[in-house]
Amino acid sequence: AAVAADPSVRSPLPVLGRDVAVPLVTGGEVTYAALDYAASAPALQRVWDDVAAYAPYYGSVHRGAGYLSQLSTDLFENARRTVAEFLDCRVEDQLVFTRSTTDSLNLLAAALPDGCEVFVFETEHHAALLPWQRAGRVTFLDAPDSPAQAVATLERALAARDPHGPALVCVTGASNVTGELWPVRELAAAAHAHGARIVLDAAQLVPHRAVSVRELDVDWVAFSGHKLYAPFGSGVLAGRADWLRDAEPYLAGGGASRTVARRADGGVDVRWHETAARHEAGSPNVIGAYAIASACKALTEAGFDALAAREEALVRAVREGLADVPEVRFLSLFGEDAPRVGVLSFVVDGWNSSHFAAALSAEYGIGVRDGLFCAHPLVRRLLGGDTGGAGECGAPDAGALNAIRVSFGAGTPEEHVARFVRAVRELVR
Ligand code: PMP
Repeated sequence: AAVAADPSVRSPLPVLGRDVAVPLVTGGEVTYAALDYAASAPALQRVWDDVAAYAPYYGSVHRGAGYLSQLSTDLFENARRTVAEFLDCRVEDQLVFTRSTTDSLNLLAAALPDGCEVFVFETEHHAALLPWQRAGRVTFLDAPDSPAQAVATLERALAARDPHGPALVCVTGASNVTGELWPVRELAAAAHAHGARIVLDAAQLVPHRAVSVRELDVDWVAFSGHKLYAPFGSGVLAGRADWLRDAEPYLAGGGASRTVARRADGGVDVRWHETAARHEAGSPNVIGAYAIASACKALTEAGFDALAAREEALVRAVREGLADVPEVRFLSLFGEDAPRVGVLSFVVDGWNSSHFAAALSAEYGIGVRDGLFCAHPLVRRLLGGDTGGAGECGAPDAGALNAIRVSFGAGTPEEHVARFVRAVRELVR
């Protein structure tokens, strides 16, 4: 249902869903306050408009001779260039359009050279924690309590490995639980000093900060469109071409194959592409790629310095607004004042987190998330106890020891954050 737009709804980049009215348990309705950007951000109005303008004209990409096929092929390949520029990739890098961050990291896991060792902190999102188990030897690093300790922990682990074999480090840029920024550049330097490569899980970083593959000196970067103000179903893996080029295609099929011919013995010979197409078999998600590129342009035009400054002000508004409420305890690894993106998790003494999140929704029309946020080892550590397997990813157990996460970004009006602070204060009282 749509209600009249709230004049206090202001955000630097308008998003969809600003006028959605939701019912309150106390009667009446209120415009929905989407404060779960870390899970999925609303699409930018600009992204939606760009997609709507293109949608009537789309055609099959790569092999079509018709005008619309050529148009779509150009838009798809231009989107690849736009996103590579947005990430400040090296000229020799490859950018593969995938379905999501999870898909990107699984693709890289499938492309690891033989005998590759993987090093990953236990604090990662499951998408960055789990794909490597298939690949072979994985070392899970203990959660650090400062950025410097993260670097020292990685240095120590890498120093103990056989320096001749291939190795990969996987790190997050910003935690999906605490929002804290990780020392990516320093971790990349440590990895390279020990002959290892590094992939950056930038799912929570790209929507909030400029990411330069060159400046951070990471080998790959992975992210999802739906957290970057574009729709679901498209993601990116960008970086070094060699491991990707040497790997078996992620999916076998048309688009990945250059030539296929029957052999005299009855089998088939296949020559695969050596470009990104090698891992993009099947008809690609052109609209998804176009939407990501549109979001990249909009964010670049708005300017990450301005976006980050505004978001930091919103984080401060939450922290200061709740500073005199001792029942609210924020979760952090690196300290409560550590630099972070617009993602904060907390528990409320005397409250079950699921009930608290439900009350925010029912009584104030505020959408947050509760649970273990697909980062069970991290949240368990931060909560200081074992949750007994409850709080499944995406299906929080109402009785579990969970946390609550509030997250926002470029489309968040100040009023949503103010309403959240007021709601927390009222519920606690
Ligand atoms: N990494 C991080 C840090 C995330 O926050 C998420 C999503 N919550 C993912 C990876 C996985 O993203 P997706 O579900 O889009 O694959």
